[in-house]
Amino acid sequence: MPTFFRAVRVLDAQMDVRWDDGIVALGAEGSLSPRPGDVEVHGGLVTPPFAEPHVHLDAALLGARAPNVSGTLREGIANWARLRGGLTHEDVTTRARDTIEMYRSWGVLRWRTHVDTGSAVAVRALLALRDKTPGMQVVAFPQEGIFRAPGRREAWEAAVRAGCDAVGAIPHFERTTEEGWASVRLAFALARELGLRVDLHCDETDDPGSRNLEVVCAEATHGDVSHVLAGHCTAMHSYPDPYAAKVCELVATSGVQVVANPLDNVVLQGRYDGYPKRRGITRVDELWAAGAAVGIGHDSVMDPWYRLGTGNLLDAAYMLVHVGHLTGEAEMKRVVRTLHTENHLPFGSVPRIAVGAPSLLHWPVPDEVELLRLRPRPTVYERRDA
Ligand SMILES: [Zn+2]
Repeated sequence: MPTFFRAVRVLDAQMDVRWDDGIVALGAEGSLSPRPGDVEVHGGLVTPPFAEPHVHLDAALLGARAPNVSGTLREGIANWARLRGGLTHEDVTTRARDTIEMYRSWGVLRWRTHVDTGSAVAVRALLALRDKTPGMQVVAFPQEGIFRAPGRREAWEAAVRAGCDAVGAIPHFERTTEEGWASVRLAFALARELGLRVDLHCDETDDPGSRNLEVVCAEATHGDVSHVLAGHCTAMHSYPDPYAAKVCELVATSGVQVVANPLDNVVLQGRYDGYPKRRGITRVDELWAAGAAVGIGHDSVMDPWYRLGTGNLLDAAYMLVHVGHLTGEAEMKRVVRTLHTENHLPFGSVPRIAVGAPSLLHWPVPDEVELLRLRPRPTVYERRDA
């Protein structure tokens, strides 16, 4: 439906925007006029669509089938391992599709999902869904490591070769520090061989001795992998400050993108602490100061690790500004803008509000801070062939 947006907020400006199966005109407030037949929308905020850089669609919506009694990461992994054996192609596909629809209703139009390579059923189901779902990517994620038991490395490599978009790993979960580093190097070698991206669960622990991120940066510095993402990096919260400063600089100079997953990590980390309990969040402010790219993931949607969540990335952003001390005016804006800028980097392009754009979100709020405060649903405008 042709639509004329009068006096809407676009970043820091008041604009008029005309939509007719794509953005067809854009100008300062008062500079454009509606065409006969246009639906008129007055005021509000217009942004590009959001992107989800880190979710587990194979496990989504499974939380109620095996409630996590202790609320811990370890029990989540154990419950998932039990459920995993009973997965069917149809079950994985249905839950993944339903979760994607939840995301869509919140304006999220790209999804990078991890798939546990311990389930060949889940790998096949999510790759088949990916082939029918524009904007979806799949990471081969060895939930229980690749060196800890026979057959895991082979299953992981088979999943990568079956057509995943990125190679995953979980170095902090391998038996030894050396095996963790070896898993990182193996992931990069496989990505180089097949021309894939790299996306690791990296140092998702409170152990300040978990130092895989520096190895990821060293590998990324070769520059022969198109995009490298390190998820979680919560150990950085507990690193000694001089070491954290070194790693933040390495992240920035190597071009590695860190993705924080504040909804999961604020409840899954700090579980070995008495009081005070650590927040389990990577150092977003220091990464920004170093010039690094940071994304924000929802991670779990009602799964064995985190029973809550709706697929609204603004909830993850809201949690991040709280636990990351990012409630300064400019910081809150930057967190919101991350959802439609840096969150798209894993997909290779960042959408903008410009003539020719195939999609936009219209929000019933006057500005980005109100967007974060209220976290409402947007109206999603998408080109019919988009
Ligand atoms: Zn994850």
